[in-house]
Amino acid sequence: MAFDKFKDECGVAAIYSNPEAGKLAYLGLHALQHRGQESAGIVSTDGVTMYAHRSMGLVVDIFSEDVLEKLKGTLAIGHTRYSTTGDSALLNAQPIMVDCNKGMIALAHNGNLVNAQLIRSRLEAQGSIFQTTSDTEVIVHLVAQSREQTLPEAIADALRRIEGAFSLVIMSRDRVFAVRDPRGFRPLSMGRIAGGVRKDTIVFASETCAFDLIGATYERDVNPGEMLVVGPEGIYSRYFASQTAQSSCIFEHVYFSRPDSVIFGRSVAESREKLGRQLAVEAPAEADLVVPVPDSGVAAAMGYAAESGIPLRMGLIRNHYVGRTFIEPEQRVRDFGVRLKLNPVRSVLAGQRVVLIDDSIVRGTTSRKIVRMVRDAGAREVHLRISCPPTISPCFYGVDTPSKKQLIAANKSVEEIREYIDADSLAYLSLEGMKQACGESESLTYCTACYTGKYPTAFVDVEEIKPAEEPVRE
Ligand code: AMP
Repeated sequence: MAFDKFKDECGVAAIYSNPEAGKLAYLGLHALQHRGQESAGIVSTDGVTMYAHRSMGLVVDIFSEDVLEKLKGTLAIGHTRYSTTGDSALLNAQPIMVDCNKGMIALAHNGNLVNAQLIRSRLEAQGSIFQTTSDTEVIVHLVAQSREQTLPEAIADALRRIEGAFSLVIMSRDRVFAVRDPRGFRPLSMGRIAGGVRKDTIVFASETCAFDLIGATYERDVNPGEMLVVGPEGIYSRYFASQTAQSSCIFEHVYFSRPDSVIFGRSVAESREKLGRQLAVEAPAEADLVVPVPDSGVAAAMGYAAESGIPLRMGLIRNHYVGRTFIEPEQRVRDFGVRLKLNPVRSVLAGQRVVLIDDSIVRGTTSRKIVRMVRDAGAREVHLRISCPPTISPCFYGVDTPSKKQLIAANKSVEEIREYIDADSLAYLSLEGMKQACGESESLTYCTACYTGKYPTAFVDVEEIKPAEEPVRE
């Protein structure tokens, strides 16, 4: 069975003590849908049995009234995931649920472990049988194998053995555990809804936008290296690892999280607007219009427009109802894939000098098509501005980036990329500018490995960080 490597982009949610726990988890996942659109699952418990439903597809399609009816009980955890396609997708859908010597547990994971393969090989050599190809399963094996007697101790023991990015929600029959890795790569927040079964309902979610939909008030983040346990005795906090330098993912602010969320104690909308403002300072352009690539470039484009004084216009419209596969007409439409999602507004773009704002260039193929589309719609000049530095190295901590061979900025200079995407000019934000816009300080430090190639953990896949021998072509 091939092992899935660092491809999961996910969202997690947990509900402690509410008569509608399953439904609230479902709504929470719906607000986290942007973090993964391939599969989703919820496990709930009434204190006796655990009820699970996992399926491929979007949250809204998976959880019908009938399905939610069956997710009984007052505790629930949920997961939404983007993974590589293929058979492994449903097999690896989460939450994982096991009945082991520590009792029944369900677990949902956001992030990627960097030493999972190593642990798995060791456990397999000792006779463990794995059911999935995901890195997450090693955590439940480690919990089951731990010599510690109590579940909180066994979880803490397991957490000390894993390395990498993990924001976890774990559920037993009567408790919810919320955990963040010592570096705090991925976000995880705690909220509260007044009046639950006995007391208030405690909720956890990858992003605070999930709280708004379920009427919860944000209380605080789970801290890096912290395990919060919510049970009949109340809430208690413990740290399972010694303090390590924080390296929260800066790409959460650049692209991944929703602008209406507050993550790592900071508003994503504010970061994005500042990224755009800083970009306007560092890379001005003589132009008539600022046009965002929706949705990823909108907030930064607002900042760029405000700082530069150039008017913002929606020159590209996004169709939000794009499913997974589409049947293409026999007579090929140029740039069909991008056109399904984006369409230019000719009356806005014709004859104009346009500053196009997007959050990132990965392979370069999308940007190339968008620039061509904007030109075909009559734009006189297209100046592309990117609200982060060039992406030169893959992520091993839970953002789906291709290997170095496919990252255009790892293999070409900015001028070569400009030529490839056929823009009149191209500029990226500086590393310092990005960190400043995202509020880096003594109390908030970021992982910027995808821009620097400097990874905060050991165990990085050497094959994935080899540059291409031949220049990348479309
Ligand atoms: P490309 O350069 O063609 O690979 O695609 C760049 C586009 O992909 C940009 O518009 C980004 O907003 C978007 N993008 C960047 N990173 C990711 C990611 N991890 N998952 C999905 N889309 C992404």
